[in-house]
Amino acid sequence: MTAPRLRVAPSPTGDPHVGTAYMSLFNLGFVRRHGGQFVLRIEDTDRARFQADSEQQIYDTLRWLGLTWDEGPDVGGPYAPYRQSERLDTYRPFVDQLIAAGHAYFCWCSTERLAEMREQQRANKLPTGYDRLCLGKTYEERAALGGTIETPVVRMLIPDDDVPTTFVDLIRGEVSAPRPDDQVILKADGFPTYHLAVVVDDHLMGITHVVRGEEWISSTPKHLLLYRWLGFETPGFAHMPLLRNTDKSKISKRKNPAARLTWFVEQGYLPEALLNFLALLGYGQPGTEDTDGGEIFSFADFSATFDWSRVNTVGPVFDLAKLDWLNGQYIRALAPEDFASRLIAHAARVGLPKDDAVITAAAPLVQERVATLVQGADMVRFLLVDEADFTVDEAAAAKQLGESGQAVLAVAVPALEALTDWTTDAISSALEQALVTGLGLKPRNAYGPVRVAVTGRTVSPPLFESMEILGRERSLGRLRAAVTG
Ligand code: GLU
Repeated sequence: MTAPRLRVAPSPTGDPHVGTAYMSLFNLGFVRRHGGQFVLRIEDTDRARFQADSEQQIYDTLRWLGLTWDEGPDVGGPYAPYRQSERLDTYRPFVDQLIAAGHAYFCWCSTERLAEMREQQRANKLPTGYDRLCLGKTYEERAALGGTIETPVVRMLIPDDDVPTTFVDLIRGEVSAPRPDDQVILKADGFPTYHLAVVVDDHLMGITHVVRGEEWISSTPKHLLLYRWLGFETPGFAHMPLLRNTDKSKISKRKNPAARLTWFVEQGYLPEALLNFLALLGYGQPGTEDTDGGEIFSFADFSATFDWSRVNTVGPVFDLAKLDWLNGQYIRALAPEDFASRLIAHAARVGLPKDDAVITAAAPLVQERVATLVQGADMVRFLLVDEADFTVDEAAAAKQLGESGQAVLAVAVPALEALTDWTTDAISSALEQALVTGLGLKPRNAYGPVRVAVTGRTVSPPLFESMEILGRERSLGRLRAAVTG
């Protein structure tokens, strides 16, 4: 096999979809296994849906995941430009060639006329699709009938017979797709549609395998016709299953926050855990001997054994509980300094006051206790906030700082004030002596009020260590502030 060249071709229409990462991962798994190249192409021909900041988000999120490309708009390459809006001159001659050969024709129908046509087709229970009113007519002939625009679009003329409606898919084997109608390939604004641009670019960029979502299966017959008419060699096709929610509905950016790739960054998932999670979807474990229990594996494990035949086409379920579990596993496996630096970065992202030393000291206390960096940042928040911003959770206060809690604080405060040495051990023995020995309380009842006063919550990192990190003055200040009456 010659070195494969694969591509991912996202459209910059907003926050990148998690499917872009999913496609990139499988493209790259195959490419790295066989020593080929991976191309990032920006398909920005839909000007109505174009969003300027989307392209940068695509770069940022894919790089964050480590899914890096060998060629692309930002890194260049032998087939530049890799942004379709910069390739308009490339597409035009192919359109002219198709028109000259009778495979494509001009269409002047206005949007209103097309809507009316569809309405009538529906009312008469006819199959919907372009009725070829413009076919074989000059502009003047057509304009005489009304319902026209001046600048035409160009449509493919789908032959009556010999349309390639079946093809072999690398994942699915033989696939059938519906017969297409006369698809627009060049729009009135001079931009090609996806269908023309994708075929021309995949050919010119030497793409050997087209890997994309299953929603494109129904478009493949159009693409196969274009390959045939233009005399291009057809690439291999692999249509990945759509990701689904646990209720089997499709993941959509409108309904699922988790459809947005940036959501995973915001929520503090580790990129390597998200990659592992995506690799498990519809694929399962790579089954190498050096993997841990089969479900936890690196990209290197994944690509070393990559095989299309292992992709399962039954809609993989996007189970975020599973991702949380995986992310927790990855967090616990990090070296402490690595976890600390990621927590520092995440605390900055969520706008907590910067104190690298405090986060580094507290990181080992939370590493075992959190599933995401968001949870981690939340757990160390009480150590970082300015004293003026520190608040005690109302429910926690109601539970722990009532009458019996006040009795605890009345003894705890002077016991801690007497300490000269503010260390975990000293704090621990002072409180144990005062509250457990002195007041005869069970540890749970003894430390609950202290925890709530100092951390603001009923659940926190280990108390004595936290108090050491927080420091004497701040800890005592909070305890005194919790004393009422
Ligand atoms: N631009 C298309 C998309 O956004 C790419 C489809 C393909 O990979 O052919 O999904």
